Amino acid sequence: MTNAAPETRKFEAEVAQVLHLVTHSLYSHKEIFLRELISNASDACDKLRFESIANPELLSGDGELQIHVSWEPEARTLTVRDNGIGMSRDEVVANIGTIASSGTRRFLEAMSAEQKTDARLIGQFGVGFYSAFVVADRVTVLSRRADLPASDGVKWDSDGKGEYSLAQVDLPERGTAVILHLKADEDEFLKGWELRSLIRKYSDHVAFPIRMPKEVDGKPGDEWETVNDASALWTKPRNEISDEDYQSFYKSLGHDFNDALAWTHNRVEGSQSFTTLLYIPEQPPFDLMMGGRDERKGLKLYIKRVFIMDAAEELLPNYLRFVRGVVDADDLPLNVSREILQHNRQLERIRAACVKRVLDLLERLARDEPEKFATFYKAFGNTLKEGIAEDAANRERIAKLLRFASTKGDGAAQTVSLDDYIGRMAIGQENIWYITADSFTAAMGSPQLEAFKAKGIEVLLMFDRIDEWMLNSLNEYAGKKLRNVAKGELPLDDAGKKHQEEASKAAEPLIHKLKELLGDRVGDVRVSARLTDSPSCLALSDYEMAPHLARLLREAGHDVPEAKPTLEVNPQHPLLKRVEGESDTVKAGDLANLLLDQAEIAAGAQLPDPAAFVQRLNRLIVG
Ligand code: ADP
Ligand code: MG
Repeated sequence: MTNAAPETRKFEAEVAQVLHLVTHSLYSHKEIFLRELISNASDACDKLRFESIANPELLSGDGELQIHVSWEPEARTLTVRDNGIGMSRDEVVANIGTIASSGTRRFLEAMSAEQKTDARLIGQFGVGFYSAFVVADRVTVLSRRADLPASDGVKWDSDGKGEYSLAQVDLPERGTAVILHLKADEDEFLKGWELRSLIRKYSDHVAFPIRMPKEVDGKPGDEWETVNDASALWTKPRNEISDEDYQSFYKSLGHDFNDALAWTHNRVEGSQSFTTLLYIPEQPPFDLMMGGRDERKGLKLYIKRVFIMDAAEELLPNYLRFVRGVVDADDLPLNVSREILQHNRQLERIRAACVKRVLDLLERLARDEPEKFATFYKAFGNTLKEGIAEDAANRERIAKLLRFASTKGDGAAQTVSLDDYIGRMAIGQENIWYITADSFTAAMGSPQLEAFKAKGIEVLLMFDRIDEWMLNSLNEYAGKKLRNVAKGELPLDDAGKKHQEEASKAAEPLIHKLKELLGDRVGDVRVSARLTDSPSCLALSDYEMAPHLARLLREAGHDVPEAKPTLEVNPQHPLLKRVEGESDTVKAGDLANLLLDQAEIAAGAQLPDPAAFVQRLNRLIVG
């Protein structure tokens, strides 16, 4: 085959944008490029090892997978080379040339939203390769795929400014070399000791040996030495791993630059043996924040130390998608495919074990390290709540971890657990009471809470959007029913019942009058047992959707059936006395409608006719 002349191509527009950002705004921690290139080299070795299971001759002649980092002081170049899978010409074009990945787009969104210029972010988006241009004004890639002949090597070359060139070259060795032509002021990356310490810092736990030339008189010599730990960290016994080791492994695994909040590392021996090392991040990674639920990364499946695939979706339920880590199974067949994994019994067990480990870890944090738990809850509490609906088998355990604001809590802080609540319940109290609203202020100010406050009964205040949906699946906890204070009839003791009956009887004419005046606007009007200070509130039937939620859903374009509200009133309130005594039907009508309007406003409902409300109010003010 004859080698064709080099060809020049343009970067895809979004790639060019990424490159522009990378070269112009990523200043801090520019050394991260080395971690990214080594991480790619390690991925390439992983891929070759995996393919060689079915096709052992791919490794022929060069059985030890490894990564070389070398520098050439005169040429001012730095080279990261691997003998991994390599790339064909098409792959080079697709992976580092033209096609914008979804990660590219997310990176651009995040960078424009953040205005942050920390290079350490870049690896999270699957655009780590481009970090080479932070320190280099020209990058050359030489690559040959392991299953192609030496004559099918590819040379890619670019100054990162909009174009790259491609040529076919002879490459006797398989794999990839990335050659950085360093910018004028990047001399630090031409020093062996500096490179060595960066590799120890960022890439110590790469599972392949990283080799560097030994220095002779400050220059790279002929002898090579391994500079990283090069073992699979999770295979070591726990007591041989320091916290720093765990943290640095976490960072290389998740491309995160924050520490992990906590981790759990376990080995199960038996009919089925496997190791799990699972981390909880300190902060949500960008893809979680930006709704990146499509491609979930972060949990790697190994089989007998061979990397098989990113298998976060197979190994963890959606509500634990923040977990990062490694699962290494001894007994799965090495040739598993994603399809097989989805229906594999052994994997089911591993998945259940992962869930259990994470929940164990969270329980331990909640019990022993409340500050860490609070950090976790702030970042991932709402994600965890999805588990109430998603994971019925663990519902009680998940519910135990939830924290809410409460009428007896610390303002809007979500710190009260269901167990705390139960521990404070009055003798004879049977239910866990809660209210849902748009915000803490709206919840705390709900008229429906008045009787509870007066009697000293605690009410949990729920104001996250997911709460209402979650509560559909959480009817009971520890044998106690969860009940919405705005729904149904309040359970009353005998004295309360008697009082309520008498009050209703006494107010019969008033109730009748209100029903007449409100006509079609209400389903029912009754005397409230909930109110002490406010004149009116809405009461929902047991299956009715909270008005604030109905409003949100309608705003989002959903069809929500209109239900006629039930109005509850407090006959002792002066406003009700006025309705009772008002003989002018127009004035009485205005008052009655305002009672309903304000109950709807307090419940976060949408007023059906805001203009009519304003007119009524003005008529009354003017008198
Ligand atoms: P990511 O590693 O997250 O996919 P990168 O920007 O670091 O994103 O790399 C882009 C792609 O380029 C990789 O997914 C891989 O397909 C390819 N690639 C980069 N470096 C190498 C390498 N050393 N060997 C083989 N393929 C590579
Ligand atoms: Mg990468």
